[in-house]
Amino acid sequence: MNFDLHNHSHFSDGKHSPEFVLNRARQNGVSHLALTDHDCIEGNLELRRLGIPPDIQLISGVEISTVWNNTEIHVVGLCIDPAHPGLQLFLKNQQKKRWLRIQKMQLAMEKNGIGGLTTFLENCGCVSPGRSHVAEFLIRQGKARSHKKAFKSLARNGRYFAAPQWCEIPDAIAHITEAGGLAVLAHPHRYPLSNGKLKRLIQEFKQFGGAAMEVSYSNVSNEVRNLLGTLCMDTELYASIGSDFHDANAKWMDIGRLQALPEMCIKNAIWLHPRWHL
Ligand code: AMP
Ligand code: MN
Ligand code: MN
Ligand code: MN
Repeated sequence: MNFDLHNHSHFSDGKHSPEFVLNRARQNGVSHLALTDHDCIEGNLELRRLGIPPDIQLISGVEISTVWNNTEIHVVGLCIDPAHPGLQLFLKNQQKKRWLRIQKMQLAMEKNGIGGLTTFLENCGCVSPGRSHVAEFLIRQGKARSHKKAFKSLARNGRYFAAPQWCEIPDAIAHITEAGGLAVLAHPHRYPLSNGKLKRLIQEFKQFGGAAMEVSYSNVSNEVRNLLGTLCMDTELYASIGSDFHDANAKWMDIGRLQALPEMCIKNAIWLHPRWHL
């Protein structure tokens, strides 16, 4: 079995359609795939509508943006019911917050003589627009030379930064759980946190009712993976694995091409959780 439980489509900031993601996962030998777009579930609904081929299992998922002590933290929901009305309403509100943040970015850009951001985004067709789309806009306008440089101006202390008003972690966990899902702390080592603060985040995530944390994901050294494995086991969380795939042109990550969970986490793999279901 080959699990990849964290992927994006063009309904959020992924470059490809849900169908492309599904077929690439099949080509790469993935047996269990989760589509986890930022703050939206439309990609899951589209895949269910198209029909899932028999050689792969689809786990419905989402990645929710939250804030914890002034730091943006992502919470993945797996095994959710994408049609759950409470979850859908909650995600609509998250999307509204995304549009409000974009309007604030537009104001900052207008002060610098750059217009047209919201029109560009309204025409891009995505449900849940984010900073990757804004970065793309800056590049097309000739205002940034690379995605990386554009992102600097959109990150904290950047010229066009607008503080997001994300929900708190317990709110995200409650909505995922109510929709039948398992809440997973996404890519724990990617946040600007010291090891001490990271440990506290993981402990609080468990206390809030979180079920699991990601232990294996793209661009993680063996050393970090083992550290995360130890923190996961010490906190009695289940362990998850996912590439965070966004774009087939980004050579450093691909669907289903991940280091397995560390040996110590195998008995706590998320697919062994009592509430795991397809
Ligand atoms: P947002 O949800 O709009 O705050 O955007 C966060 C997303 O932007 C992440 O999920 C990544 O896909 C992408 N991202 C975050 N940091 C960077 C960065 N430094 N360079 C490029 N993309 C990034
Ligand atoms: Mn993203
Ligand atoms: Mn994320
Ligand atoms: Mn992600």
